[in-house]
Amino acid sequence: MVLKIGLTGGIGSGKTTVAKIFELLNVPVYYADAVSKSLYTTDKDLMQSIKAHFGESIYTGNQLNRSMMASIVFNDPTQLALLNSLVHPPTIRHAEEWMQQQTAPYLIKEAALLFESGSAAGLDYIIGVHTPKHVRIKRVMDRDGVSREEVLSRMERQVEENIKMKLCDFIIDNSGQQLVIPQVLQLHQYILKLVEENK
Ligand code: ATP
Repeated sequence: MVLKIGLTGGIGSGKTTVAKIFELLNVPVYYADAVSKSLYTTDKDLMQSIKAHFGESIYTGNQLNRSMMASIVFNDPTQLALLNSLVHPPTIRHAEEWMQQQTAPYLIKEAALLFESGSAAGLDYIIGVHTPKHVRIKRVMDRDGVSREEVLSRMERQVEENIKMKLCDFIIDNSGQQLVIPQVLQLHQYILKLVEENK
């Protein structure tokens, strides 16, 4: 059995950056948020059910009208729950299929909403990437060229990072106060040891 490790953190905490370092160590990484986003335009059944619930105009051809969808779901928790209930099953299925194909000693599933979505339950351990809020805001503003207000409004939709970190088994400090690569290497060695012990 391949050990399944989750990787999470707040917006702009450096999840993707840390995941890329694991990839350099030949650890397979599943980017759940990116896959889930792509399913909206590739999974025919999902597209059908989204159209059935939100109307044909939610798509233009194969393209989801993301701003229309955002304005519907961000103002209405019932619609958001409905959308999640449509997207969740194919997303979980896709991840499960990918996980079953992996043969490395362990794999990583990277997702911003690991706890919120309930998918943390299917994972053996969770790594949290911890970065103070003011650093995350600055990094996302620089990365995406957006205002402070825009970053704050994205952050409002997620569980507080501090709460998330308490639920994690391991923490990577990406504040800039500690080098990241040595932390990842140390964790990698530790996880490989866990894999050996679990054999
Ligand atoms: P999101 O939640 O928005 O998907 P994320 O958690 O995946 O973000 P990244 O995209 O990896 O975060 O990092 C956010 C930004 O901060 C990127 O521009 C990245 O290059 C930068 N960054 C990440 N770690 C560091 C670091 N240790 N020092 C400086 N910049 C960093």
